[in-house]
Amino acid sequence: MQVIDRKSFDTLFDVLRARGFEVIGPLVRDGAVVYDHLRSASELPIGWTDQQAPGTYRLIKQDSAALFGYSVGPHSWKKFFLPPTHRLWRSKRSGQGFKITTEDEKTPRYAFIGVRGCELQAISVQDQVFLRGPCTEPIYRSRREAAFIVAVNCNTPGGNCFCVSMKTGPKVTGPFDLALTEVLQGDDHYFVVETGSEKGRAVIADIPHRPAGSAEVAISEKLAEQAAAKMGRTLDSAHIKELLYRNLEHPRWDDVARRCLSCTNCTLVCPTCFCTTVEDVTDLSGEHAERWRRWDSCFTMDFSYIHGGYIRPTVKARYRQWMTHKLASWIDQFGTSGCVGCGRCITWCPVGIDITAEAKAIGADGIPASPVIE
Ligand code: SF4
Ligand code: SF4
Repeated sequence: MQVIDRKSFDTLFDVLRARGFEVIGPLVRDGAVVYDHLRSASELPIGWTDQQAPGTYRLIKQDSAALFGYSVGPHSWKKFFLPPTHRLWRSKRSGQGFKITTEDEKTPRYAFIGVRGCELQAISVQDQVFLRGPCTEPIYRSRREAAFIVAVNCNTPGGNCFCVSMKTGPKVTGPFDLALTEVLQGDDHYFVVETGSEKGRAVIADIPHRPAGSAEVAISEKLAEQAAAKMGRTLDSAHIKELLYRNLEHPRWDDVARRCLSCTNCTLVCPTCFCTTVEDVTDLSGEHAERWRRWDSCFTMDFSYIHGGYIRPTVKARYRQWMTHKLASWIDQFGTSGCVGCGRCITWCPVGIDITAEAKAIGADGIPASPVIE
């Protein structure tokens, strides 16, 4: 473990840029902490924290020098690995046919600063989907391989967080290049740094640093323990798959369908949701056409259109498939839960539907999960 002081932290930006990275991290915009390009540490959400509850998000300015004193906002890192809209190819009429030009993207080299434990696990979940299945997604792969990740242990979980229940945080576990714990005690402001890769070690070598003392390591561990005790929510994940599979006709699905607007917000803010569609567009002359890929959501009617009909024509069917996919069938499909407990779907649901409350309601009077289905 190493320590870098607050002033040395500023040089991290120059060191990463000198290595050809575009630095991306949290900043305050439009009343929320979002992720975008950063020029320097002064653009981080210094002194900002937030309050989150179902359907509620509010930023609060504090008299604090903390750079990372907030919990996750509406953005996630997935938009940098798999852009919300992406042109796949262009075509131009030529004689009786068309000439197709595929997109030849120059892979951006992103350095992400401030990735939380749950977010790192969400990236691992998407790695499983895009890199370890029968096919790999080429844009995701090239951007992912080029990325440098500076993770930051979360000291301030939000009111909707349940990463402890999902075993994804708050302490960062790999894969990262650097993992920082921000320590702010009186006038002392420094970062305890763990390196997770050769790239990470090389970057730290270029930043003024010193070995961490045992007291500094102990403080960083204490902060992680305190954060784990501050979760806003819990979800009993032990047998959630079996519970949901056994309760596909539970009356709670009708109840939640009466509240759900099928607005798609929960899927768009979720760091693991990955559904996309393709759209072809032409110009008015008919000379040019383009194919675009864009994010889609299982809450849209069209997403379930197969062979002349909709297989999930009701809101009840769509909410049930989303929640059972996240917490149950994702495990069968990818060997891991599709939920990392970040709480975004709860915060950004306009009617405050809470996935943990829905699971609890089904668990309270549904068909019990045990004995476990093999
Ligand atoms: S389902 Fe909700 S809590 Fe779970 S990872 Fe997605 S947004 Fe976060
Ligand atoms: S659960 Fe909430 S966020 Fe998700 S589709 Fe329904 S109303 Fe929208």
